Amino acid sequence: MPYDPYKALYLHIPFCVKRCGYCDFATRAVERDSSVIDEYVESLVLDLRRASREGKLGALETVYLGGGTPSYIGMKRLSSLLYALAMSMHLEPAVECTMEANPESLTEAMVRDIWALGVNRLSLGVQSFDDEVLSILGRAHDADAARTAVAAAQTRFENVSVDLMCGIPGQSAASFRRSVEEAVALGVKHVSVYPLTIETGTPFDRAVLRGEMPEPDDDVEAEAMEAAREVLEHAGFHRYEVASYAQPGFESRHNTAYWTGKPYLGLGASAVTMTQNNERRMRVQDGQVIDDLNERQMAAEDLMLGMRMAQGISDEQVQQATTLIPATTATFAELANLGLAVHEDGRWKPTDQGWLCGNELYGRLLELAP
Ligand code: SF4
Repeated sequence: MPYDPYKALYLHIPFCVKRCGYCDFATRAVERDSSVIDEYVESLVLDLRRASREGKLGALETVYLGGGTPSYIGMKRLSSLLYALAMSMHLEPAVECTMEANPESLTEAMVRDIWALGVNRLSLGVQSFDDEVLSILGRAHDADAARTAVAAAQTRFENVSVDLMCGIPGQSAASFRRSVEEAVALGVKHVSVYPLTIETGTPFDRAVLRGEMPEPDDDVEAEAMEAAREVLEHAGFHRYEVASYAQPGFESRHNTAYWTGKPYLGLGASAVTMTQNNERRMRVQDGQVIDDLNERQMAAEDLMLGMRMAQGISDEQVQQATTLIPATTATFAELANLGLAVHEDGRWKPTDQGWLCGNELYGRLLELAP
């Protein structure tokens, strides 16, 4: 059976000016003028042109340049990439095209150029507007650079998102709240809020093991997530996914594609491609199959992904899943008893408790088809 067309494209730029202490992404600190970056971009351009020739880019609804730090590689390389992108697909305004940028490497000139080349959404890795917290994280920018970057972004882009982080050792509840309030005051349209997690093998992990850094406290993180919700909802944002808030119409369509089971193509080192048809879903990374799901497992995964989103899962989808996995209906009833899900307006939705205890909620759904 043929595979469904890709709806989303991810281009990975795995370079940063330096590594942040908490980060375990597949990225490297490489000198900005290194030929390694030139060669990488050239090969990404070739991959793009090949994907285009093979007809893989004809149905794309979203593109995402992520990293790493795409803004770090500079405008000359971004131009080649964005030009190749525009030549490889119909990069019309209806296609959401996001680029990630970090404050230290985003300039007003870059903002103008990437906008002219078809990018229409900017996602800024801010993390905090508190200098002390930024230095604990090992970020390459300070709070003023973040403010300047948001202002630069807004000279062209209406659709600007910032990432903020909570649960950082040394970050007070007041500091986190001020950062959320500042994002609102700056007029961004989308805010992602992540609790810090200690990833194995990172400098933060080693500091925790040596007893030099406390582990993030679940209660502190839960309170911070609640504070974020309060500030953002008061300012007219709605929480459409566990970590994502948007002004109406500014939800990330690219991320929504991941959560709603749309096939995506990933180009570049460590980028994941998800291919599917009605019977099978596969994820491939660096030529290795990392997931190979049958129809039942796909249905269970779709239920799990759907419950990350505020809109949850329709009765119809639960019905369809039940025909493949008879225990589905009972599991939702059980989730309701546990206070993790609620049935409203013909849909099953996560409760606040469900989002807080995400591992339990998602785990139970995935267990439907191990
Ligand atoms: S800038 Fe982002 S991708 Fe790069 S090291 Fe820091 S957290 Fe990781």
